[in-house]
Amino acid sequence: MAVRDILHVGNPLLREISREVTREELASPQMQQLIDDLIDTMHAANGAGIAAPQVGELVRIATVEVNQNPRYPYKPPIPLTIVVNPIIEAIDDEQFQNMEGCLSVPNMRGRVTRWVNVRLRYWDRHGVEHDEVRRGLAASTFQHECDHLDGQLFLDKVDDPRSLTTWEMFERFHKESFFEEMRQFVARVGS
Ligand code: ZN
Repeated sequence: MAVRDILHVGNPLLREISREVTREELASPQMQQLIDDLIDTMHAANGAGIAAPQVGELVRIATVEVNQNPRYPYKPPIPLTIVVNPIIEAIDDEQFQNMEGCLSVPNMRGRVTRWVNVRLRYWDRHGVEHDEVRRGLAASTFQHECDHLDGQLFLDKVDDPRSLTTWEMFERFHKESFFEEMRQFVARVGS
């Protein structure tokens, strides 16, 4: 078990495109250790997810887990999910605006447009193939993590820079209305 240092925006590694992992590599102790480290680092930082490039490893692996997350209390639970070589694509035109944060962008949140319904294909940590439909806030969490594997940060997708806010100012000025917006959204799409 190891909690790794998280790279912050400005580190060029966060802008690199990560490479795919082979099944042989995935089965190696080194890659399994990296996955354990990602889980530990995500938990230690109260993240809803983390991608390998955020700890400086340029491979297409990310972890997601939401369980009464103090950073995102409005997010419905997502069981711990390890995605290896994920492919994510919208399955229709429906979009929504999320207010995202990122462990690599300290103390900043902003509004990002995301797909509501996505098809997510990936291997789990054992190399088993999965093909799933994810919706709503869960879909947006996976979109955020998959963006990291292509060197993209949520900052790149903020539609209006005036939506950017520190976490303290979010609490003070935006939290109430955004939480209500998300309550209605979750009630509508179910996740
Ligand atoms: Zn992030």
